[in-house]
Amino acid sequence: MECPICGSDEIEILNSKQKPSKKKLIEEYLLKCEECGHVFKDIFSAKKPKPYRLIISEQDKSYKSSINLSPSDELKCGDVLLSDLGQVEVTGIEVKDKRVDKSIIEDIDTIWAISVEIPARIGFSVDLHGEVDSYKLDLDRDFEIAPGDVIKIDKHIVKVHVIKTQDRKLTSGFAKAGVIKRVYSKPVKFNNYDYDLTKDICKKSS
Ligand SMILES: [Zn+2]
Repeated sequence: MECPICGSDEIEILNSKQKPSKKKLIEEYLLKCEECGHVFKDIFSAKKPKPYRLIISEQDKSYKSSINLSPSDELKCGDVLLSDLGQVEVTGIEVKDKRVDKSIIEDIDTIWAISVEIPARIGFSVDLHGEVDSYKLDLDRDFEIAPGDVIKIDKHIVKVHVIKTQDRKLTSGFAKAGVIKRVYSKPVKFNNYDYDLTKDICKKSS
């Protein structure tokens, strides 16, 4: 999506509405270019999602399931889908009794996948007056961290000051681990804490 006047792809969505249609998902957007200020309309349409056969392997078991996907999209091996068993990675695609690496979804008979509940990897800094203990943590993507949380991590009890996400810095509210880049914290002299992240540490550097 880019501005028809200046070609910038910094586009703000001012408004969107769905248009009623039986077979397609049609959305009309009112857009504004953040570069030159030009306001314009664009229409996106896609075939409505329908269920596809999905076989998920998890360790030595496999489960038959189905997943709703948009027929006009493309699927390839390695893609991650959100199934009713959580996140899965596509390992095989069957189209007319043949295994293929990628296909337009509407041609697909069966999708094979393996379960990969992928944790979010975030950075966690403890400010020790000039020195910093820095950790990498693997957390559930939905795990919520808020500025002000008192956390035990390794040998420290710390309070969260700032959370840097993909697009901003938070000093209030909360963020889910799935969008957090790094948490900045300082030690506090408390004996109690809200939760302990020590077991989630996968790497430490200082
Ligand atoms: Zn523009």
